[in-house]
Amino acid sequence: MNTGGLHLNDVTRVYEDNAGRVEVLRGISLTMQPGNSLAITGPSGSGKSTLLHVIGTLDQPSSGAVSILGTDPFAMSEPDLARFRNENIGFVFQDHHLLPQYSVLENTLIPTLAFPGDNNLRDRATELLEHVGLSHRLDHHPAQLSGGERQRVAIARALIKQPGLLLCDEPTGNLDVETASSVAKLISGLHVRANNMLIVVTHSMELAGQFSQHVELRDGLCKDARA
Ligand code: ADP
Ligand code: MG
Repeated sequence: MNTGGLHLNDVTRVYEDNAGRVEVLRGISLTMQPGNSLAITGPSGSGKSTLLHVIGTLDQPSSGAVSILGTDPFAMSEPDLARFRNENIGFVFQDHHLLPQYSVLENTLIPTLAFPGDNNLRDRATELLEHVGLSHRLDHHPAQLSGGERQRVAIARALIKQPGLLLCDEPTGNLDVETASSVAKLISGLHVRANNMLIVVTHSMELAGQFSQHVELRDGLCKDARA
């Protein structure tokens, strides 16, 4: 069955330029059901971010098939893909990527600017910011926030369109241990509420242990870390 969920079949990603040829992903197959969570671990340079970019439709695989929520994203035209990504996929990176000139509330609303149409977005943004513990900081700017607070805004921004798929690339990688643990708890808690698919690249085995699936990348291949 290829409806809903996430399916990768024998996905490869090869970088080729004058400097040579690098086979980063050499045949990744993955299946995720709606509502599930997946942790991706693996050494630095093993291709975790590359894989997340492919799953996030930011980068095309060199070969293989990808199906996200019942669609083949790479068969779409570029404008259709941009809309699909905007409506269905949320991103949280290691760096918050907030825009410094905008407030917390405005940053949270940024994904809604490209394809307007939803109603009550300010209410939803306010509610989300309340859930991430920032209801008292709506009008503050990123420079006035701590690292953990900025990451909480990035999480609210990623969820504003209620994406069916949330991708997080080492979301706690820049945070101290205590803050990392509270941000990780927040991501897991919001996933349960939203019932979306959650994929997190992490070095934390403790966090990986809390997900419904856990794969490890190594030498361009992925294996079930629990098998
Ligand atoms: P990870 O996130 O696991 O640390 P990455 O996915 O960032 O790993 O990178 C995997 C490998 O792909 C690394 O060896 C990196 O140097 C290589 N790589 C990433 N982007 C490019 C590129 N544009 N051209 C060539 N090699 C690249
Ligand atoms: Mg990476």
